[in-house]
Amino acid sequence: KQAQYRALRDVPTVSLDGVPIGLHMNAGLLVDMPHLAETGAESIGLFRTELQFMLAPRFPRPGVQEQLYRAILEAAGDRPVTFRTLDIGGDKLLPYMKGFEEENPALGWRALRIGLDRPALLRMQLRAFIRAGGGRELRIMVPMVSTVDEYKRTRALFDREVAWCASHGYAPPLSAKLGVMVEVPSLLFQLEEITAAADFLSVGSNDLMQYLYAVDRDNRRVANRFDPLSVGFLRALRSIAAASVRSGTPLTLCGEIGGRPLEAMALLAIGYRQLSMSATAIGPVKAMILTMNVAEATRAVESMLAEGRDDASLREPLEALAGRL
Ligand code: PEP
Ligand code: MG
Repeated sequence: KQAQYRALRDVPTVSLDGVPIGLHMNAGLLVDMPHLAETGAESIGLFRTELQFMLAPRFPRPGVQEQLYRAILEAAGDRPVTFRTLDIGGDKLLPYMKGFEEENPALGWRALRIGLDRPALLRMQLRAFIRAGGGRELRIMVPMVSTVDEYKRTRALFDREVAWCASHGYAPPLSAKLGVMVEVPSLLFQLEEITAAADFLSVGSNDLMQYLYAVDRDNRRVANRFDPLSVGFLRALRSIAAASVRSGTPLTLCGEIGGRPLEAMALLAIGYRQLSMSATAIGPVKAMILTMNVAEATRAVESMLAEGRDDASLREPLEALAGRL
């Protein structure tokens, strides 16, 4: 199997009926980077910057942050990297930041919420990205956005840092894009506004599932109680894909479901064309896509999602569909 996946590395990712699909890789450390070329992924679709913060004995200084981002961009070569701003809190605690204990951390002071309340920290990281990304295409996305206003406030901080770097003689990025992670369900009801404001969207399906179905993603008693391949979740994901098409705002999905072949098939059927996943998932997902008929899957899944269906798992009918395609 491994050899078979390796052989697919340079094969273009196109479905049987000719639909091109972008496969991207999730990463969080410099040691992940060799997998980019090995897998043939088009880009780093999600770089989880919190890993550096979690492994360090103290809050990494700006120069240390910049050094890592520069090394990541260099290791990526011609392929783009989408850096995610610090996503701490919830399950990801920094040992050197005390007083973070919360009754309900998943709903607490985390990710962008910390960044907007402590803008010096967020600006420090944004500046590190901009300085590292001089002369290159720079892509940044923000986690745990709940309102369009939070995005706009982040955008204002980002624009200010871009201007600061330019006025201090740093080489500007060739282009600078600021995207939004769609992982808090409130954004599903602000899709027109968020697609108009943001440069791109990336669905964090792990958290979106957790918040939409009210199941702690790390609580083994309930984490698998509901299937992401359910009518409700797939309709939610489909509404995001539809908003992306209406507005022309680029869309990726970077949660774990994108790396499972059956789930990836369902995602393609409801309109997703860019998936970012762990390195080991790229071969199996690519092998699935090469034998899949997207138009046919779309027709079949649309009828599974038609009105009148209960919110039951569609896993069995999707498995049957995968066998037929
Ligand atoms: C997600 O929530 O789906 C995601 C990609 O980010 P993380 O798993 O790091 O929260
Ligand atoms: Mg998340």
